[in-house]
Amino acid sequence: MSASPWTQQWQESFKQVDDLLNYLDLSRKNIVVLGQVDAFSLRVPRAFADRMEKGNPDDPLLKQILPLSQELEAVAGFTKDPLAEEKANPLPGLLHKYHGRVLLTLSGACAVHCRYCFRRHFPYKENNPGTKGWEPIFEYLTNHSEVTEVILSGGDPLSVDDSMLENFIQRLETVSSVKYLRIHTRLPVVIPARITEKLLEIFRATRFRVTMVLHSNHANEWDASLELPMQQLKASGVTLLNQAVLLRGVNDAVHSQLDLSYRLFDYGILPYYLHLLDKVSGAAHFDVSKVDAISLMHGMIDVLPGYLVPKLVYEAPHRGSKIPVDLGLDHA
Ligand code: SF4
Repeated sequence: MSASPWTQQWQESFKQVDDLLNYLDLSRKNIVVLGQVDAFSLRVPRAFADRMEKGNPDDPLLKQILPLSQELEAVAGFTKDPLAEEKANPLPGLLHKYHGRVLLTLSGACAVHCRYCFRRHFPYKENNPGTKGWEPIFEYLTNHSEVTEVILSGGDPLSVDDSMLENFIQRLETVSSVKYLRIHTRLPVVIPARITEKLLEIFRATRFRVTMVLHSNHANEWDASLELPMQQLKASGVTLLNQAVLLRGVNDAVHSQLDLSYRLFDYGILPYYLHLLDKVSGAAHFDVSKVDAISLMHGMIDVLPGYLVPKLVYEAPHRGSKIPVDLGLDHA
């Protein structure tokens, strides 16, 4: 039986905690969960839930998306806008933090709500340019010819439909200084059917060199349903990279990271970044200290070929790029 269209799968996502727990043969007796809390409530496509182990409250995929009561704990140093992005936001939908690159938000929507997300409190409503807001963005890019790369980021840019994405890309192609298009997305990982024939056609037709930076944190996120979509993306000329977030209790063991790197490579994807958690309020229970992260990286470097070792990075307000963590290898 072929999968239903991605939009239908998205609409049919789990939105109630108890429905998801029932589906996974779990109950509130196993886990202290929150009910529906705020705009950032539970959202999990069934295709992603199907990769979770039934009856396991510690499943590493479940832990990424289940709202726990720990989210309500106020922890010093964890804030609503940890990267002060609102100040780098010259137009709705446009973040200009890096010299030659801008980040555009086509949509504030995501197919899955990751509890550690650093944009979980971001004011997407004010920052969704809508198609009417595109022209000022194109004008900004025309006036900033130093910008050669446009990064479509989250929300999830692939949450818009293919015709809107095609219109956007075709209009962007008229800004001659832009050469590269990067798409940061988690959607194909959680709903593989998002890789439609039309989307592949768009990538084959564009003059841009396209890089897709997927977001996956654990090897268990990869099953047979992702094989064909990844092959098709590569065959359409898309470079595939992955970024992960280091999350306590999810992927903070050396074997988890080794499994992830090897699994990604099996699917034709290179590990790009491993991010330290951004200190966003509600996510402190995922935090892994820098010292532990460095020790984890040493364990990976001992085993993996260099091309499968992601860069350990973190972001800080008002810094022009991600900051690599010094692994101390020259004096280890
Ligand atoms: S998919 Fe990305 S932007 Fe959306 S909630 Fe998850 S981490 Fe945040």
